[in-house]
Amino acid sequence: MKFVSTTLVALICLIIAYACLTVAHAEPLATAEEPSPNHSMGEFCKRLPRSAYQNLERVDDPDSWFQVYQVAAGVKAIYEPHQWQETISYLIEGDSTALLFDTGNGIGDLHGVVKRLTDKPVTVINSHSHYDHVGGNYAFDRIYGMDTEFTTKRQRGIKNKDIAAEVSADALCRPLPKGVSETNHIGRPYTITKRVDDGYVFELGNRAIEVIHIPGHTPDAVALIDRNQGLLWTGDTVYAGPIWLYAPETDLAAYGESLDRLLLELPNIKTLLPAHNTPLVDAQLLPRVAQAFRMVMSGGAKRQESFEGTVIYSVDGESTFSFLLRDNPFSYQRD
Ligand SMILES: [Zn+2]
Repeated sequence: MKFVSTTLVALICLIIAYACLTVAHAEPLATAEEPSPNHSMGEFCKRLPRSAYQNLERVDDPDSWFQVYQVAAGVKAIYEPHQWQETISYLIEGDSTALLFDTGNGIGDLHGVVKRLTDKPVTVINSHSHYDHVGGNYAFDRIYGMDTEFTTKRQRGIKNKDIAAEVSADALCRPLPKGVSETNHIGRPYTITKRVDDGYVFELGNRAIEVIHIPGHTPDAVALIDRNQGLLWTGDTVYAGPIWLYAPETDLAAYGESLDRLLLELPNIKTLLPAHNTPLVDAQLLPRVAQAFRMVMSGGAKRQESFEGTVIYSVDGESTFSFLLRDNPFSYQRD
């Protein structure tokens, strides 16, 4: 009897460990309304470094928390490889000004890195207002944001108790930067200095970057497009990995519509630049994600139960990405 229960416990532990492994690397959910998966440090770190970085041009910078890569002309990816979100922010430079698309977790000194990379005036815009993309906003004085209630609310930051897991041992592959700890890390408040909307164009000097509003993952999710260079920054809407779509603010119907909206740009783009995991992804990932998501919504995808009432949906032949949804996605579509 004892043997049976021990085996049973071991089996349950194995299932939980597998579930955590499968969903790691995705969207943060550590606020009060967003439970955090219980990752295992050893397992997370074993996946690194990702092979996709081997052939990228590394840019020297003394900061050891971030890694900087030159990923396109005038575009640098600022990657946080030692924390489980593997967030990627992008510095996009024109002849006269620069745009910073996301500011990471707020754990390392992103502002310091950016100042070393460019002398040009920097404007921040976030792919969306989840805390692993706005963490460094506090250090910048020009922050553009969408005019949504979600954007406004997230300016106030996040308390330590709701974000401490992001700097716990389980979330890290190396020691934290000096001064940051599990007891003092917070999502610092910041101020949006200008509101923008769909179609807004950043004129950076010989380079135009347009904002495309793609609500779904969050109400304020945006993509950026550089049609001249064929680049599309997709934020958390499309990336290689399990795409997390189960937060309370996620709207699946809107997400599907936003994928369709991005598909209209497919003839104009060669490369996707996502906000997690890997910075350069072939544009063909976009139609594959859109098609797979349609299968999810029509009940044609495979289901695998995951942590805390979530389910991983995947389609045959696609190992690059999956979708992590609430158990019954059809119960939280737009009313
Ligand atoms: Zn997100």
